[in-house]
Amino acid sequence: MSDEATPKTPRLFGGLSLSFIPPAAGDGPAPATSASPANGAGDSVEARVAIVGSGPAGLTAAIYSARANLQPIVIGGVAGGGQLMITSEVENYPGFPDGVGGPELMGLFRKQAERFGARIVDAEVDRVDLSGRPFRLWAAGVEYRAQAVIVATGAEALWLGIESETRLRGRGVSACATCDGFFFRDKEIAVVGGGDSALEEALFLTRFASKVHLIHRRDAFRGSKIMQARAAAHPKVQLHLNRTVEEVLGEEHVEGVRLGRTDVPGEETLPIDGLFVAIGHRPNVAIFREWLESDEKGYLATEGVTTASSIEGVFIAGDVDDHRYRQAVTAAGEGCRAAIDVERWLEAQEANERTETAEAAAPTVR
Ligand code: NAP
Repeated sequence: MSDEATPKTPRLFGGLSLSFIPPAAGDGPAPATSASPANGAGDSVEARVAIVGSGPAGLTAAIYSARANLQPIVIGGVAGGGQLMITSEVENYPGFPDGVGGPELMGLFRKQAERFGARIVDAEVDRVDLSGRPFRLWAAGVEYRAQAVIVATGAEALWLGIESETRLRGRGVSACATCDGFFFRDKEIAVVGGGDSALEEALFLTRFASKVHLIHRRDAFRGSKIMQARAAAHPKVQLHLNRTVEEVLGEEHVEGVRLGRTDVPGEETLPIDGLFVAIGHRPNVAIFREWLESDEKGYLATEGVTTASSIEGVFIAGDVDDHRYRQAVTAAGEGCRAAIDVERWLEAQEANERTETAEAAAPTVR
């Protein structure tokens, strides 16, 4: 499917350009668990490295750590593959000049990880205990024990939560201007939100769109003053304050929005071809919240330039710690960094253990 051929049905999810096709049976990686190391409740599986999450970050970490002979086990979620699994055409992942389907791309990631021996389990981690090594994780009633853990659980865009928005996602409703703006050349579009993301996306989209309507529910923006000033001064940006999106209009693709007023009674209709929802993102941190430190925005925190978390032996990669870039390719890069950090950390641990063992075995010299 070509994005060029379907400019009115762009779909972006988590940093990818696409024209949306719901994931079809047979797309992408085999749904079956590729590792069957455990048979049910009460079983326990040992691994040197456990990777939680199977999006670009998790599977890149799996490729690198498998090639480093760390025999990783990826506990990748029930569906597996992350946000790309509901993405059809990805046009901005390097190496695919003609674009590639999201599920197909994740299928390739997975195949590459498995080729080097990564075990991939299609189950959701529902509980962890990071109080000591081995770290313990539970998924589908099975306990996994690992010397090191890479957290690559991603993040998800926040949505308005109205039925028409869900129905038209990928048909003109998007949560990523970087990914989908390209599809709206010379179109009239709207951005909803009042923070820096909305202001930034509105300004970015002026490169493509003929006009950008910026819709915010209050009379004042939350975003920075400089971004507000830029948006207000831009000839292509029209502000719509004190408005809420009540309904996205259109059957097959976005044709407009029905706006409610928050200052005075009344409604209005705005004809547009695309709606960008920029009301924030939420990192998938729930099972790790009590263990790992987060930054002020709720994303998992890393130490310095490394992927190390606040717990030694636990590393973080991808959108779960990245509120700035949120691209598949940056997530993959972080997965690589996390795997290299794990490899070096495990090597250091094992070298220390060997030294301690040797010292303990050596005769005492008086
Ligand atoms: P944010 O600052 O939390 O802003 C979210 C905006 O969406 C708010 O204006 C909020 O309205 C609105 N909103 C939330 N739920 C809504 C709903 N259901 N319906 C309508 N509107 C809704 O999120 P963000 O803009 O993604 O920014 C997140 C953080 O990243 C911020 O700290 C921001 O400064 C930073 N950031 C920085 C840059 C940059 O420096 N270039 C770029 C992007 C983001 P209210 O204002 O009424 O609450």
